[in-house]
Amino acid sequence: MNWFFKFCKSLYEKPIPQPSCSSGPTHNLKEIFDQMNARYFQGRLELSIYWFGRQSKSSRINRKVLGYYDAKNKRIKIHHSLNDPFYPPYFIAYVVYHEMLHSVVPPLLGQKKRQVHHAVFKQKERLFEDYTKAKEWEKENLRKILNGR
Ligand SMILES: [Zn+2]
Repeated sequence: MNWFFKFCKSLYEKPIPQPSCSSGPTHNLKEIFDQMNARYFQGRLELSIYWFGRQSKSSRINRKVLGYYDAKNKRIKIHHSLNDPFYPPYFIAYVVYHEMLHSVVPPLLGQKKRQVHHAVFKQKERLFEDYTKAKEWEKENLRKILNGR
């Protein structure tokens, strides 16, 4: 049973006028992807984007898997738990932008290990309009993100 169903059920048992189940904001990945693509990549990125994992407020999210970029299949996956009004749209947009950036900024092959979030990557990441806001929100809410709410 997902959190949304529980939420609806509790509304049903103890009626509250608003919000209704259908009015809860969720995030449309394709729409966010298209906006980011037009704004930062001249609409040139041809990638697919999906949710993955379970959408549940109680499941623990490992920060490493909030999202990832699958270079072989040109595919971005974002953890389904982020499809929740708890996450502000600018944070979701930041996660999507970050993954998109991986498709244009390749990893550096260091002597010991592959560097994914190297200086050039970080520099480009800061071009995202709400970078500071998203990072601050992440810092403030990291415990909730990692432990579920
Ligand atoms: Zn990354």
